[in-house]
Amino acid sequence: MTRIFNSFSDLIGNTPLLELHNYRRNRQLGARILAKIEYFNPAGSVKDRIAWGIVKHAEEAGKIRPGDLLVDVTSGNTGIGLAAVAASRGYRTKFYLSDNISPDKVKLLRLFGAEIVTVKNEFFLDPQALDKISLRVQEENPGAFFTDQLANPANPRTHFETTGPEIWRDTDGAVDIFVAGVGTGGTISGAGGFLKSKKPGLKVVIAEPAEASLPTDVNPYPDEIDGVHKVSEVPREQLPRNFDSTIADEVIALNTSDARKTAQSLVAEEGIFAGTSAGAVLFAATQLALRPENAGKIIVAVLPDTGERYLTAAGEPAVSVDTAAIRDKVDLHS
Ligand code: PMP
Repeated sequence: MTRIFNSFSDLIGNTPLLELHNYRRNRQLGARILAKIEYFNPAGSVKDRIAWGIVKHAEEAGKIRPGDLLVDVTSGNTGIGLAAVAASRGYRTKFYLSDNISPDKVKLLRLFGAEIVTVKNEFFLDPQALDKISLRVQEENPGAFFTDQLANPANPRTHFETTGPEIWRDTDGAVDIFVAGVGTGGTISGAGGFLKSKKPGLKVVIAEPAEASLPTDVNPYPDEIDGVHKVSEVPREQLPRNFDSTIADEVIALNTSDARKTAQSLVAEEGIFAGTSAGAVLFAATQLALRPENAGKIIVAVLPDTGERYLTAAGEPAVSVDTAAIRDKVDLHS
């Protein structure tokens, strides 16, 4: 029997769940951590899912036709996913990005043929920034289709229909805790919502950047965790519409350096090179796995993209190449 795929969109989803055995043993974690490795998606991130979900929905509703321009605000991965979907289905793309996102993502966006408009990172300090940028995108691009990842319901719905069910299927319903970060809120609200609908006792936990990892008036360019935002103590109207603020049972805050160190440990101990927000999610999962009450439980951690997307990060290098030193320190495979 042949196994031939017929289009880019057929390659999206069904990403693997990898149990982090070495990582668990090295820290004597009571709980089991399963990493959902989203860089297996065809354009390299979890965002391929919503890119296709949004385009498919717009096509079915008769809102777009080949040749049309798709526009959005993105920290990179959604843009790359949309540009890839656009290439395979005949659309054009234009994206608004803050000027501190990883240069690797900017290069990829150009390579995929997207037009780019950069926005100063200070702009996002404005409490009304999300509404203002959405308005600007629409005003500057009359006739274009605004994919609107922050508020388009096709975003969380895609995770409700794909990411959540895949985790349920692949753990045979044994998942106890689901951990992810929040950019648009699509992953946590959609996949978390699906898993809670199946198992009401399941815990949903958010990994969020701590204060030191956030831009301020004094320091608008700190070393940020690309793609994720703070959600606790943020007024509802300043959160993305696609974020269901009732979904989380707990929020764990951490610094960018903790996220990077955790990503380095993951590559050193398991050979999985994931991005900074993946490091953040795994850091939070590790805190949960250390708690005695979670012994024996199954934690699923979403790793949104690959570390290759941050090799030439805007600030300090995403990964300093001291993996060998980490390996020397940790008693691996004992
Ligand atoms: N991590 C990275 C690297 C991302 O690009 C995003 C999306 N901005 C997220 C995490 C968060 O995903 P979501 O938008 O589904 O909340």
